[in-house]
Amino acid sequence: MRRILIFDTTLRDGEQSPGASLNVAEKLAIAKQLDVLGVDVIEAGFPISSPGDFEGVRLVAEKIRRPIICGLARATDADIDAAGEALKGAARRRIHTFIATSKIHLEKKLKKSPEEVIELARRAVQRARRYTDDVEFSPEDAARTDLDYMCQVIEAAIDAGATTINIPDTVGYAIPEEFGARIRHVLEKVPNVRKAVISVHCHNDLGLAVANSLAAVKAGAAQVECTINGIGERAGNCSLEEVVMALRQKKAFYDADNGIDTREIWTTSRLVSNLTKLDVQRNKAIVGENAFSHEAGIHQHGVLQDRETYEIIRAEDVGWQGSRIFIGKHSGKHGVMDILKKNGYQLEDDKLQVVLQRVKDVADRQKNVEESDIVAIARDVLEDLASDEHLLDLREVSVMTGNGFTPSATIKLSIEGQDVLGTGTGVGPVDAASHALQSIIRSHVGPSLTLSEYGLKGITGGTDALAHATIRFKDQDGKEFRGEAVHGDVIIASVQAMVKGANRAMNFQKRLNKGGPTGCIDPKTPPGGEAPATAGEAPCCGQSKNQTSKQKP
Ligand SMILES: [Zn+2]
Repeated sequence: MRRILIFDTTLRDGEQSPGASLNVAEKLAIAKQLDVLGVDVIEAGFPISSPGDFEGVRLVAEKIRRPIICGLARATDADIDAAGEALKGAARRRIHTFIATSKIHLEKKLKKSPEEVIELARRAVQRARRYTDDVEFSPEDAARTDLDYMCQVIEAAIDAGATTINIPDTVGYAIPEEFGARIRHVLEKVPNVRKAVISVHCHNDLGLAVANSLAAVKAGAAQVECTINGIGERAGNCSLEEVVMALRQKKAFYDADNGIDTREIWTTSRLVSNLTKLDVQRNKAIVGENAFSHEAGIHQHGVLQDRETYEIIRAEDVGWQGSRIFIGKHSGKHGVMDILKKNGYQLEDDKLQVVLQRVKDVADRQKNVEESDIVAIARDVLEDLASDEHLLDLREVSVMTGNGFTPSATIKLSIEGQDVLGTGTGVGPVDAASHALQSIIRSHVGPSLTLSEYGLKGITGGTDALAHATIRFKDQDGKEFRGEAVHGDVIIASVQAMVKGANRAMNFQKRLNKGGPTGCIDPKTPPGGEAPATAGEAPCCGQSKNQTSKQKP
């Protein structure tokens, strides 16, 4: 039976999801869990794209010893050298280098002839081999590349020393039959193909990333690149949990197995969701809240008689333990710890104490605290403790609302120790509070911090549920500053989230004025500014989360 290598790119492609943000410590926490999950390769980042990315790769390489740690690099010396440097401390390291090969990319982006690109690919692989004998090469936008030309590039890359050839469907354009045929063609026509592992990297723009990856495995691919919860650029990547469970379910059909401990899937999914702040849709396959719940009476009856009537996967096989666990006023520390652990949080004692106190406060007010409440509180506490210096503190909020008059709000903040009062009116109490806060920010922090996003949800049912507020502020340069908070009162939760966002913006401004590193405040602001300039012939390309030249196969 073949062994399919699972190459996880949650920390690289997944981290390029719009809205995702991970600091170095969070990247390491995810990498640790990916190790427990049993992935073969962790693509930890794109070292040259920002100092934060470099540091993330360096730290993961140093601390995570079993899986291969991989760094991404365009086909330029500077990129490859940065990746080589970041991976220096790894027990097992891989450099993943790539260059676009589709006609549209050659003509519009690279402005190079097909022959020049082959030469660049060859040189890149050779340079990467100076750092490691494990080199992966991707012809970017392969699914739209002329088949014969793609085979020539692959042959040259293997000839230069590439040990893995990855065929990416960069733009999510392929369909399963076509993509499977492309992989089969490579395996049949490239003369030296047996010297390399054939890998695939599919995007989900047509909702086919998992289907395309499976078609490729059937055709002979031996490595699948994927992310937890399917996160990634635009519509995301092939979802690890889906492709792994499909391979498990149809082991005989694919004549293939993999090294994933599927019982760790649920925890990994929740950890990634909690740290990236990207929620998992309720009906998502394998890891959605609804994946193992049965509403319809006829289903419930069947499942109670024999689960296999309506379930193809046992919930415990993916580590799902049910989500409606209640913690009452007298439930102990261990119940809370178990829930945190199941959701991927292993807190140090001081942080745990803060979470426990908050849980107890909520339990004193309402009868039961559910699992999702506890996770939200932990998120809130960690965000509070991890974030910057407290330049802003919320002292008081009062709002007046009702029908027949204009809602108004008064807020008192302490700004670097000095109390400041602001007032505002709005269409509702939250809007009024937001205006009151913004009036203070305008006069004391900076002239142009505007609220670009606001979200509020009740975590559990009932009017006494905890409210989870998320906000984004934008400054005059378009930099975004996120804030989130959890509280039993929707107004307080909203204002606290805004204060946290404003605090981030203030810290950023303070560091900028000092001229020091700006730190990982926000993913859109690479610490220390733009990525280092690469060689003139760098195959730079378009859209990127960091507005640097971050791109992806
Ligand atoms: Zn990608």
